[in-house]
Amino acid sequence: MITATPVALSAGNRTRWTGQWRELVAEVVDTGLCTGCAGCVVACPHDVIGYVHEAGGYRPFHLEDQLGPGDCEHGARGCTSCTRACPRFRSWEASADEHLFGRRRQPQEAAGIFQDILLTRASDAAVHAAGQDGGLVSTILLWAIDHDYIDAAIASRVDPADPWKALPAVVADRQEVLAAAGSRYTYSANPLALAEAIDRGYERLALVGMSCQASIAPVMWSRRIGKVARPIVLNIGLLCSKTFDEAIFDELFSARYGIARSEIVKMNIKGVFQIWTRDGAYHEVPLKECHEWTRDGCTQCPDFAAEHADISTGGIGADDAWTLTIVRTDLGRELISRMIADGSIEARPGDDDPAAIALLHKLAARSRRRWPATGVDDPRLPPKQTPNEPGATTHAL
Ligand SMILES: Cc1cc2nc3c(=O)[nH]c(=O)nc-3n(C[C@H](O)[C@H](O)[C@H](O)COP(=O)(O)OP(=O)(O)OC[C@H]3O[C@@H](n4cnc5c(N)ncnc54)[C@H](O)[C@@H]3O)c2cc1C
Ligand code: SF4
Ligand code: SF4
Repeated sequence: MITATPVALSAGNRTRWTGQWRELVAEVVDTGLCTGCAGCVVACPHDVIGYVHEAGGYRPFHLEDQLGPGDCEHGARGCTSCTRACPRFRSWEASADEHLFGRRRQPQEAAGIFQDILLTRASDAAVHAAGQDGGLVSTILLWAIDHDYIDAAIASRVDPADPWKALPAVVADRQEVLAAAGSRYTYSANPLALAEAIDRGYERLALVGMSCQASIAPVMWSRRIGKVARPIVLNIGLLCSKTFDEAIFDELFSARYGIARSEIVKMNIKGVFQIWTRDGAYHEVPLKECHEWTRDGCTQCPDFAAEHADISTGGIGADDAWTLTIVRTDLGRELISRMIADGSIEARPGDDDPAAIALLHKLAARSRRRWPATGVDDPRLPPKQTPNEPGATTHAL
């Protein structure tokens, strides 16, 4: 187990924070905990952390070699930004929970702390059609831009030459938001688009990201490196059990199933990998066969439910046309309530689909089992009586 000294920088606990790149490499990158979220990359004030957003990459590395790849001159002189930004460094979960919710989660709150669970869908037919599930995420972005909560969002778009190549992107209008809608199941380190957003003059941003990315801003705020995350004023999480290496297209879908990457028009994961192709055909690939292409960081990731987002969204449910919506913070509640009230979205209580709620808690508990015994204690398995966890009842706002 990692002994977490020194960790907290909360009020009343002024223990000096000394972790720098050297500790980040030893405790997160080399141990396989690193998700590739790029939090450390965007936080580094000296721009000495590199990142290649391509197959074989998706990992931070040091760009200066004075002290070798595992140490940093700036760190040796006291810079600690990268460890303060990392949502897998030491007690990240407890720090972010306390910062966002004023308390640590109860052990049985496997899916994180929340206020409501709903099923929602976009009222705008075009947004609904473009969305992966109910089109909620795209609706939130459009609504939040229109209602002056945000100037733009950092999300993930596709490469025009390859509709399955996911790339970090800034989206600021209807066209950009809709072009980015839908899910790609390879990794997109969306925080890398922060620099472009700032260059374009946007000051208030939503971050759309996988569970690991949704923890970045709360971890930064709690560890007093909030300046980097200050532009992120809205945090939309995507439920996530894993992302896959790009090689899965050639080595599995094409080689074993004869499905060419260029022919795929939609994918989803619902117990199996579902693939729709241009010729109208539907294919299923058992998830068991896909495991080999799971990215390393995902195999130790304990967060299925995007526990630190304002609003977490997923596709679990009997009906593909709705987004399972976990409302966590007061800001999330304010947005969802206003969007329901003005008819931008339709909403049903999560209890309409008890199987989806049960599956949410089951998958969240399963992901927590992945956290290695060598990690800090926080992301541990809940006790056996998970189903009746506090706050698990769901209702419409
Ligand atoms: C890799 C991945 C794994 C997922 N796994 C699960 C799961 O196991 N269970 C579950 O219930 N839900 C999962 N989801 C969430 C689900 O697929 C939907 O994203 C969610 O329900 C929101 O749907 P929507 O129609 O409201 O969103 P949309 O309106 O379609 O908006 C989706 C947003 O996601 C962004 N996005 C798309 N692909 C990526 C990517 N690779 N990385 C970062 N951002 C991206 C887009 O930029 C867009 O802004 C996963 C999503 C992804 C991307
Ligand atoms: S988890 Fe994210 S912040 Fe931490 S080392 Fe990896 S890329 Fe950097
Ligand atoms: S499983 Fe999802 S949330 Fe977890 S590390 Fe992988 S991409 Fe991030």
